[in-house]
Amino acid sequence: MKKLTLTFDNGPEPEVTPLVLDILARRGLLTTFFVVGQKLLDPERMELATRARKEGHRIGNHTFTHSTPLGQMEDAAAAVTELERTDELVARTGETEKLFRPFGGGGKLGPHLLNPQVVDFLHRNTYSCVLWNAIPRDWADPDGWVERALEQIASQDHTLIVLHDLPTGAMDHLDAFLDRAESAGVEFSSDFPEDCVPMAGGTDMVPLAPYVSEAA
Ligand SMILES: [Zn+2]
Repeated sequence: MKKLTLTFDNGPEPEVTPLVLDILARRGLLTTFFVVGQKLLDPERMELATRARKEGHRIGNHTFTHSTPLGQMEDAAAAVTELERTDELVARTGETEKLFRPFGGGGKLGPHLLNPQVVDFLHRNTYSCVLWNAIPRDWADPDGWVERALEQIASQDHTLIVLHDLPTGAMDHLDAFLDRAESAGVEFSSDFPEDCVPMAGGTDMVPLAPYVSEAA
């Protein structure tokens, strides 16, 4: 049986996140929201992240500004600040688990994700680094992503999919997508596939070199 773990990145957004939360609640699904830290400076968005946490979802750190992949930032210390500021805001939602998802810049994996200072921060703060193995590009193709997502799910045993609770229109298809996944016999999980978690609780599970840029 194919397994599927859902994650939602780049929110929260008042136009979309409440609908996503309603759908997940109705279906009894738990997920992780990897939030953009600066959005939580807005009380309405902070309230949404707090609601998600109260409803049993996990809240993860997805950088503060989501502007440049951290391994590409010229100022390595500024990259750490991206994590620190978001860490503090995520903690205010009530989240105690430390989950980080790097910004890939279009979902790409590679040495642009991290730098040595960021790795050090993640170690010191016992973070798990959560990557992905399915990017149906819902932001770029708000209607066509569902077919691509279903193909990606069919192609592997356990899919960790990145969707976005952003006002692109893509989440209008979330319920139908979940219906189709269910009809295809997919088993929903809130666990992350091991091969998508190169660091767990501050410990490297595999060599991180493929994800770390050279020291600045
Ligand atoms: Zn993102």
